[in-house]
Amino acid sequence: MGSLAIYWFKRDLRARDNRALIRAHQLADRVAPLFIIDPELLSSLGIGADDPRLGFVLSAARSLAGELPLHVLYEKTEEAFERALSGRKVDYVVTAKPLTWSGRERVERVRAVVERHGAKLVEVEDETLVDLRSIGNHQTFTSFYGEWRRKVDGAVSAIPRLRTAELDLPRAEESLKSIEFKGEMVWSAEGCRERLESYDFSLYERTRNFPAIDSSLLSPCIRLGVVSIREVYQKALPKSEAFVRQLAWREFYYWLAYRFPETRKLELRRERRGIKWENDPELMKAFEEGRTGYPIVDAGIRELKRRKWVHNRVRLILGSFLTKDLLVDWRFGEELFRKHLVDYDELVNLGNWQWVASVGIDPVPLRIFNPVEQAKKYDPDCKYIKRWLPELSSHPCHELQDPLRYKIKGYVEPVVDHYERARRAKELFR
Ligand SMILES: Cc1cc2nc3c(=O)[nH]c(=O)nc-3n(C[C@H](O)[C@H](O)[C@H](O)COP(=O)(O)OP(=O)(O)OC[C@H]3O[C@@H](n4cnc5c(N)ncnc54)[C@H](O)[C@@H]3O)c2cc1C
Repeated sequence: MGSLAIYWFKRDLRARDNRALIRAHQLADRVAPLFIIDPELLSSLGIGADDPRLGFVLSAARSLAGELPLHVLYEKTEEAFERALSGRKVDYVVTAKPLTWSGRERVERVRAVVERHGAKLVEVEDETLVDLRSIGNHQTFTSFYGEWRRKVDGAVSAIPRLRTAELDLPRAEESLKSIEFKGEMVWSAEGCRERLESYDFSLYERTRNFPAIDSSLLSPCIRLGVVSIREVYQKALPKSEAFVRQLAWREFYYWLAYRFPETRKLELRRERRGIKWENDPELMKAFEEGRTGYPIVDAGIRELKRRKWVHNRVRLILGSFLTKDLLVDWRFGEELFRKHLVDYDELVNLGNWQWVASVGIDPVPLRIFNPVEQAKKYDPDCKYIKRWLPELSSHPCHELQDPLRYKIKGYVEPVVDHYERARRAKELFR
């Protein structure tokens, strides 16, 4: 019979260039592929039956099941492992090593079950281009980037020669059929692969700041591991240094969380830990519902809720508006994004929220984005605003960009005056 490993897929839903899957084949004679869809995890992220994020997970699992005989269990993670390990001799459970705090906690809970059944849990690093433990001390992203760039390991590996084992557990086809998805298919595994092949990386630097033009849209694909980070890197490298730099930002936030674990709860900048946020419930509600009276902000919230993804420029505008105009604690925004983003990543989201709230690592002491100027500069024809707020499509663009100067007929008035609030923010952050 030989030795048996269960390969636990999590955020690496692909057979190609999967270092942990390769390791499983080196360790054991036969490998049984398993993916768990944990309903508790889905509900903690607010994912219901009509959520595009559910459609994406199902599509990725279905696509993976086309590559190997995948078992899918739709139950609480620890219970799924109890079932998978009971009554059979399993030598190893192999999985990609999670870097997020919640990912680590989940693996540790599973480790207890695995060891109780006499098997060994093996974790393999697969999610980053650089072994982040090898990176020294840095005060800025630029200096981090220098070391990161020298250490990148972007070698792509082929699919291992599969020696799969089938267990007496539900197969993907059966389990996936039982999970009801009633929403619109916005994201899919096929879409990810198509995007990786067709995206013109050479346009990235010129277009990346204009939200009416989609950026690569690869973040959900990276998030679920439908494509590997090394494949993305190899495609981008010859075409766009600016894009590679963004991949480094992702790892910079991972590295920060690893170096400063207290930032899970606290601001990285110590002197900014005691800010007295106003947290006005009416303003928080207006923000969350996309009724701030600033079309660029409200369009962003609409995109977040419909598409479950928002362009980076607009994420910045939203983050600055929430914290510097509405004077609301950045944690409220962090949580709102957690509940909606298809690319939600605990560490990247946290790092970006701290950055945009000027409480994280940033050589600039206080950044305040003016929503009027941002709209004029980055949405010059209001294509973005009108895409997400079609009810405003007949209004002249200059009115939509500057709701403080022009009254937008039939639209909610600005809930705050940016210029007055920016002065307040400066006092609050002093
Ligand atoms: C407040 C806020 C919250 C965010 N939360 C998340 C999150 O939860 N998950 C997430 O993946 N990204 C997050 N980002 C970063 C960024 O907005 C998204 O990665 C990007 O918009 C994804 O779209 P894309 O793949 O088309 O990006 P592109 O612009 O095409 O960039 C390519 C890749 O580079 C990486 N990247 C780009 N910008 C950043 C950045 N600022 N920080 C870290 N990595 C970056 C991503 O992996 C992205 O897929 C956040 C940004 C802000 C300002």
